[in-house]
Amino acid sequence: MKTLLTEDQLKQGIVQLAEKIQAHYQGKPLTIVGVMIGSVVLLADLIRLLKIPLRVELVQARSDHNGTRPGPMVINTDLISGNIQGRDVLLIDDIFDTGHTLWELIPQIDELGPSSIRTAVLLRKIGQCKLDLKPDFICFDIPNAFVVGYGLDYLDLYRNLRYIAVLEPSDMKDKK
Ligand code: 5GP
Ligand code: MG
Repeated sequence: MKTLLTEDQLKQGIVQLAEKIQAHYQGKPLTIVGVMIGSVVLLADLIRLLKIPLRVELVQARSDHNGTRPGPMVINTDLISGNIQGRDVLLIDDIFDTGHTLWELIPQIDELGPSSIRTAVLLRKIGQCKLDLKPDFICFDIPNAFVVGYGLDYLDLYRNLRYIAVLEPSDMKDKK
């Protein structure tokens, strides 16, 4: 496994991300919606840096994948317990790759009647998205490699790493 972003780099990037989000919303109330499971580490760090009145909700977007290869997407917005009608919503995800997760999620959140929907991601893989979609807030652009750590998994492992690493073929064997 090769480190791509150190704990310090992540910390600095997330402070800057929080500043941009704060400048954008100018103290207006916000509902942050985290995409489970990968965004939970970012979500926990980010909300503690934001000094605006905010609520937190979670949605689930899962592609039943076999390690690094994604399958069909399952989206569940039923976990949203509060009323987001008329509120500004910021969707938070760990990584923007092909863009399909946010592409499918945004209309489903929109059905709940928020006044705005914006998106923030920790990582964006350069050049992978063929859709007319770009996250509003991006912490780091990264090359097209499979990464783990800081919430991102391989077969549900490695989410607890404090850094982002590129998974190498030798890391993909015999995982329990
Ligand atoms: P997209 O739908 O934009 O192609 O991909 C977004 C989702 O795919 C992410 O929320 C994440 O769950 C998964 N994903 C995409 N690239 C990676 C990666 O490099 N590592 C991990 N662990 N997950 C990824
Ligand atoms: Mg995900």
